[in-house]
Amino acid sequence: MSAPVDPAAVAANVAAARRRIERAGGAGVEIVAVTKTFGADAVLAAAAAGCDGIGESYAQEVAAKWRELAGRQLPALHFIGRLQTNKVRSLVPHVASYDTVDREALAAEIARRAPGARVMVQVSPAGEPDKGGCPAADVPRLVERASALGLTVVGLLAVGPTEGGPEAARPGFRRVRALADELGIATCSMGMTDDLEVAVEEGATQVRLGSALFGPRPHRH
Ligand SMILES: *Cc1c(COP(=O)(O)O)cnc(C)c1O
Repeated sequence: MSAPVDPAAVAANVAAARRRIERAGGAGVEIVAVTKTFGADAVLAAAAAGCDGIGESYAQEVAAKWRELAGRQLPALHFIGRLQTNKVRSLVPHVASYDTVDREALAAEIARRAPGARVMVQVSPAGEPDKGGCPAADVPRLVERASALGLTVVGLLAVGPTEGGPEAARPGFRRVRALADELGIATCSMGMTDDLEVAVEEGATQVRLGSALFGPRPHRH
């Protein structure tokens, strides 16, 4: 885990991120603070700074951190990483929203372990297989299957392409917003530190910010 975070710096960074979002026309867009690789202190700093949610990507980290955070009043925890079915069980006590559902087997395991849970379907707008995500064409069926399993599908999540800068993410984000509208889904979780403006312009309702709030992450995985 990385160095301790300074709560005052995090509060200033959250305020700066809110200004970026507003300048992009996104009044009311929620900030999910991505605390992966940072310690429990980052979660507490994000909560104190008024972030709307906390995002974690690694199941083992969640178990360890949330043990340390037991009894605290915290924003909703979103799981935003690649999720193997055998990890779902360990997340159930902590996670409020499973945002990377990209296949029916995973939806089924979440429905079995956490009946009625809130989920998002992760869309792979650019078809980059290494990032996970369901091909856009298959999303309507997955949404229908997840709902039939009793899950509450609240949103779609998308990660922009690694290459090409923020503008490269625009067409994919636009496609994901259109898909959400077609399906009557309100929440679009798209946009990270480098492409949040583009995501907000294209209709994100939630951005996931890590390095903008906590600084660079030590390399991992
Ligand atoms: C790490 C991560 C983020 C945050 O990335 P930053 O560029 O640090 O803001 C957002 N979404 C997902 C899915 C991530 O894995």
